[in-house]
Amino acid sequence: MFDFLKPDYYFHSIHDVPVSFYLENGIKGILFDIDNTLEPYATELPGEKTLKLLGTLSENNIKVAIISNNHEPRVKAFCEPLGVVYSYDSGKPSSKKIHAAMKTLGLKKEETVLVGDQLFTDMWACSNSGIRGIFVDRINSDESFLIKLKRILEIPFVKNIKKKGYGAIK
Ligand SMILES: [Mg+2]
Repeated sequence: MFDFLKPDYYFHSIHDVPVSFYLENGIKGILFDIDNTLEPYATELPGEKTLKLLGTLSENNIKVAIISNNHEPRVKAFCEPLGVVYSYDSGKPSSKKIHAAMKTLGLKKEETVLVGDQLFTDMWACSNSGIRGIFVDRINSDESFLIKLKRILEIPFVKNIKKKGYGAIK
């Protein structure tokens, strides 16, 4: 039960994942959540670490798209300087925008992973899309009331994930 919330991999931060991890696991495309995954909610533009990460992925021919549930102004302002494929109001856990981005980038399910900090949106969306998921710890606790509520529901599942290890979740 609740297997749809289970990530395939768990890391503290997306910056803890070396490029070799993607290459060894046959990952050719990464779909990123923005808020509390790449940057905190309050950070309007991609920071130095995000720019460096995306640069490294690009050098290694790993394709990138951004799939955010946040609204157009936030997502557009964040993504346009990056020049990446992006989607706002994505409605995760729906698979709709995920499949659309994969089609645009020419990615197969088995070579695509989504990175996110929430189980009920990001990881559930991976299950609905048939792709792998990387779950990361949120960057900080500055979140909306609704997300704080979802965090309470996440507690037992997150505890279980952390018990199962770091990196690949058994
Ligand atoms: Mg998020």
